[in-house]
Amino acid sequence: MSDDQGTAELARLIRAARRAVIFTGAGISTESGIPDFRSPGGIWTKYRPIDFEEFISSDAARREAWRRKFATDPTIRAATPNRGHRAVAALVRSGKAASIITQNIDGLHQASGVPDERVIELHGNTTYAHCLDCAKRYEIEALRVEFEKSEEAPLCDACGGFVKTATISFGQAMPQRAMERAERETLAADLFLVLGSSLVVYPAAGFPELAKHKGATLAIVNRDPTGLDGIADLVLNRAIGETLGAAVGVD
Ligand SMILES: [Zn+2]
Repeated sequence: MSDDQGTAELARLIRAARRAVIFTGAGISTESGIPDFRSPGGIWTKYRPIDFEEFISSDAARREAWRRKFATDPTIRAATPNRGHRAVAALVRSGKAASIITQNIDGLHQASGVPDERVIELHGNTTYAHCLDCAKRYEIEALRVEFEKSEEAPLCDACGGFVKTATISFGQAMPQRAMERAERETLAADLFLVLGSSLVVYPAAGFPELAKHKGATLAIVNRDPTGLDGIADLVLNRAIGETLGAAVGVD
């Protein structure tokens, strides 16, 4: 299929849909300069990840987790939504897409103007932190200023609990409410559009399988082949911004 034919087919599937769900992974955000932390050369291959159990049980692990967070934070803060995010936002705004299910933790869908309640974050969000006990919210920049003074991992000033970025760590339970919402949205979708995920991480990769099983059309735009290409109705191995941007008519 030529590039033009592929874009035209994607546009046709989107036009035909009454209730689309968009599922995004690291590939949409690499186009904004955010590295795919799991890819070869990514930070998680250089450093052993700090899993949730270690974070809870070791002060040294908590300090190391925060040191890494503050080291990578400027990259996250500098990133802005790209054409792919804008095209997704346009689909939500027009009512074509009911919701976005994302594996990303960078908050770029919200930064592109999608209301918070339309974004289902399976792996949480790294642009803010919260207390693991009482859920009080903390801003990263304020924590950084304190950390540079004390070199101590932050504790909640309300209850003394551990403060952690609002992400889901390895070994941490998947967020139940987000998982339930994602399943509900998946079951209601007639088009399930995957953007920039290799669909190898479960349970997340179960959603496109479920959508397809329930009769939805499954379309995938990803630079590389994915684990579910074999059951997809359309697979485009291309950049997301230019492909979806052209299909939706967003620059
Ligand atoms: Zn607390």
